[in-house]
Amino acid sequence: MLRHLPLGLVLLLPVLSQAARAAEVLAVPPTEVPLLHAIGSAPSAARIEADIRTLVGFGTRHTLSETASETRGIGAARRWIHAEFERISAQCGGCLEVRYVSGVVSGEPRIPDPVDVVSVIAIQRGRHDPGRYVIMSGDIDSRVSDVMDFTSDAPGANDNASGVAGTLEAARVLSKHKFAGSIVYAALAGEEQGLFGGKILAEQARKDGWRIEAVLNNDMIGNTAGITGVVDNTTARVFAEGTRATETAEQARQRRFTGGELDSPTRNLARYVERMADYVPNLDLMMIYRLDRFGRGGHHRPFNDLGYPAVRIMETHEHYDRQHQDLRTEDGVVYGDTIDGVDFAYAAKLTALNAVSLAGMAAAPPPPADVTIEGAVSADTTLKWRRPSRSQAPDLAGYRIHWRLTTQPQWSRSVYVGDVGEHTLRNVVIDNYFFGVSAVSTSGAESPVVFPGAAGSFGGYTNADD
Ligand SMILES: [Zn+2]
Repeated sequence: MLRHLPLGLVLLLPVLSQAARAAEVLAVPPTEVPLLHAIGSAPSAARIEADIRTLVGFGTRHTLSETASETRGIGAARRWIHAEFERISAQCGGCLEVRYVSGVVSGEPRIPDPVDVVSVIAIQRGRHDPGRYVIMSGDIDSRVSDVMDFTSDAPGANDNASGVAGTLEAARVLSKHKFAGSIVYAALAGEEQGLFGGKILAEQARKDGWRIEAVLNNDMIGNTAGITGVVDNTTARVFAEGTRATETAEQARQRRFTGGELDSPTRNLARYVERMADYVPNLDLMMIYRLDRFGRGGHHRPFNDLGYPAVRIMETHEHYDRQHQDLRTEDGVVYGDTIDGVDFAYAAKLTALNAVSLAGMAAAPPPPADVTIEGAVSADTTLKWRRPSRSQAPDLAGYRIHWRLTTQPQWSRSVYVGDVGEHTLRNVVIDNYFFGVSAVSTSGAESPVVFPGAAGSFGGYTNADD
């Protein structure tokens, strides 16, 4: 009888019976979270349009533009963002800590003279694990053809008022709820001049010992009519680099024998975001296994540079006539990043993707720490991990083991194993799959999957190197 079943099913049978046995004794948390369905449809295209209009209305938001005016330039823009975060905070009883994060930059090719690069962040403090952070970001600044031109109109409607508007809207949606971990909404400055705002925030976060679980950097989330002629409002891209930039030679040597080149925390963050798209109507994600577009940059990179999990979320179809262009018409072709090129409903959809991902992670327990795996020359595979303190994760229900074929992009098999610190998969041979473990809350909210060893680690449970 068995020999008539597909090979994959035969391989799975021992596992399924194990899962079935486990289900008899374990209270398995739900596999979907109703709150996330609500959040996945909550962002408003109209509010995002209004915010993009306001940002475009500052004329230029170039990093070197004037700061004294209340109506034009980067200073007026950042003060408005700060005030908007404060207005959102007032609606939730002061639930946001709004602050400027700045640093003086000079002597750089694109910032020769001293300039105060000023980002605006709002922190929604977590109830149980306030030192754990998930971050959503967009960029305040804009540019035209000459990156040093700080006086011409540079509307930057899609690049990247869309990202800032999405970040503000995510704050409006998520500040109505309370989460275990902290959420940071960040409008970053100085992107076009050399990723300075992200660098300043990442370095400050490291100094302050933030446990950064995820950075979702949004850079251009509103263009649906591409340079190729394709028009598409149902897909988005998530860019994720491979091995950590901070990997040591010894860690790389270890990885060569045990794997992990496809399973950095950044990659597993991308897989997480891809799966969370199920909560957003009419949206599919394209995971892209590279740092960013070919030879180009974005504000997730300064976080990757310090070893933090960080991805870039953006539209699938870019239109280069609408990026970094002087406003003009040439041979009948219209150039410029103007507001008529932004699809607000699509920007709302990508905002929803961010919101469900932030909410899912912030509601979940911290990703498992110190995950190890063994099972060479054995029928079985055993994973072990360390659990957080009860006070840090009072909503923890237990853990889920995930595995997939080595050529599969997404985790395809899993079993819930309860509140334990290790689990053995019987008759699952370690050589043939990649494995990981996630933490699950009683509500069903799940952390990203953590691949064993240094290659996959999301870090420890406390601010110190525990
Ligand atoms: Zn740009």
